[in-house]
Amino acid sequence: MSRRFDAVVVGAGPAGSAAARDIAAAGHRVLLLEEHARIGEPLHCSGLVTPRTLDIAGIDQDIVLNRINGATINLPSGRRVPVGGTGPYAFAIDRVRFDEELVEQAQARGAQLRTGSKLTGIERDCGGSVKLCIRHDGTEEQIETRLLVGADGAQSFVARWLGARSEPRETLVGVSVVAELATERQDYAEVFVGHSIAPGFFGWLIPLGDGSVRIGIATNDGRRPIHYLRDLINAFPDVFAGAKFGRFFGGLIPLSHVPRPVGDNVMLVGDAAGQVKPTSGGGIYSGLVGAKHCAVVANEALTTGDLSRGFLERYAASWQSELGEEFERMQDLRRIFLSLGDADLERLAQLLLTPRLQDLIARHGDIDFPSSILLRLAKAAPALLSFVKVGLRFPWHRLIGTR
Ligand SMILES: Cc1cc2nc3c(=O)[nH]c(=O)nc-3n(C[C@H](O)[C@H](O)[C@H](O)COP(=O)(O)OP(=O)(O)OC[C@H]3O[C@@H](n4cnc5c(N)ncnc54)[C@H](O)[C@@H]3O)c2cc1C
Repeated sequence: MSRRFDAVVVGAGPAGSAAARDIAAAGHRVLLLEEHARIGEPLHCSGLVTPRTLDIAGIDQDIVLNRINGATINLPSGRRVPVGGTGPYAFAIDRVRFDEELVEQAQARGAQLRTGSKLTGIERDCGGSVKLCIRHDGTEEQIETRLLVGADGAQSFVARWLGARSEPRETLVGVSVVAELATERQDYAEVFVGHSIAPGFFGWLIPLGDGSVRIGIATNDGRRPIHYLRDLINAFPDVFAGAKFGRFFGGLIPLSHVPRPVGDNVMLVGDAAGQVKPTSGGGIYSGLVGAKHCAVVANEALTTGDLSRGFLERYAASWQSELGEEFERMQDLRRIFLSLGDADLERLAQLLLTPRLQDLIARHGDIDFPSSILLRLAKAAPALLSFVKVGLRFPWHRLIGTR
């Protein structure tokens, strides 16, 4: 194998494979490195994405296991509040196949794939490239690249090496399990909220349409989420009765994006750059948007030969221009969510039951861009503003005033 590349992308998850595909498509020599032997495994995701995620990935709907048209919100009191409509708002996908298809796309554009190969060391070369140490089958090998793209997930080695993780960051711990379970509706997910149930986040159940479901929970209080998952299952016997559980899997969910995901000759993308929606913890769509912007700037940099941090910062700016504002709104929404006690959540759910709000959610619900629906809801029911605490950047009151 050659030891010199234009770009080495570390991590064959969705963000890395999409970035490798688009950089290779421009004619650059790209190596895609994956530490695991099999793409997409071990699984660390519940695989719920919007239809637009498949569009941006360039993957057709064969990988869709089930269509999700709404969700039932379960409150600590046991009350259940359905929201949704005819959708589909989201797809439950075969996540392993999704990752494999993206890798196949990257290979078809000329990227070389090496599985079972772990990045273990990075060193700058004064000649303007980066030297990488790769461990494969117990042996170490040196390779050289003009550009290193860290797409190595929530615990990114590249981000740590770059010092991009020095700022305070909020990280959740999530756990998920596949179970055989008969659900009330096959086209509705279940969401479980309440600080005693899932501190700082929520639990979920996603029907896969074949009598099985993905159940998960993420929390932010440092206690292992498996305990909360067990408590959740016990707290809602009507939902979980008769479930036969399969393999458990988990992972970290980084909720704060890295403001400058670049250094000289280095870029971060996907979870490595914290490109994860703060409201849902979903990172597939936003990581693919990150990959798109990353590849555009990487291709310009490789073509012009300017791989300086200053040039690569164009990537941060272009990602910001597409998703930055929505991410700020989602951070605001997250702060509001964190400020609500269980009694507030019950009151909020009561409001969501009103027909006008139900209709707005059915028509405009969008888990990739939640702020637009929330603005509509707040306009329709100003009582929702009582949930907005002081100190938030978003000018909710001003917008309501322009109605
Ligand atoms: C429990 C749970 C449920 C989730 N559910 C959803 C969901 O329903 N919808 C959604 O949109 N998001 C979900 N997410 C988040 C989603 O899984 C991530 O945002 C997404 O996988 C990020 O993609 P990525 O390509 O950035 O990183 P990853 O998919 O994490 O890929 C990174 C890759 O890098 C490889 N790697 C790491 N270090 C090295 C190294 N040193 N050398 C070589 N390779 C390396 C890893 O093996 C991995 O394959 C969930 C997360 C968790 C934890």
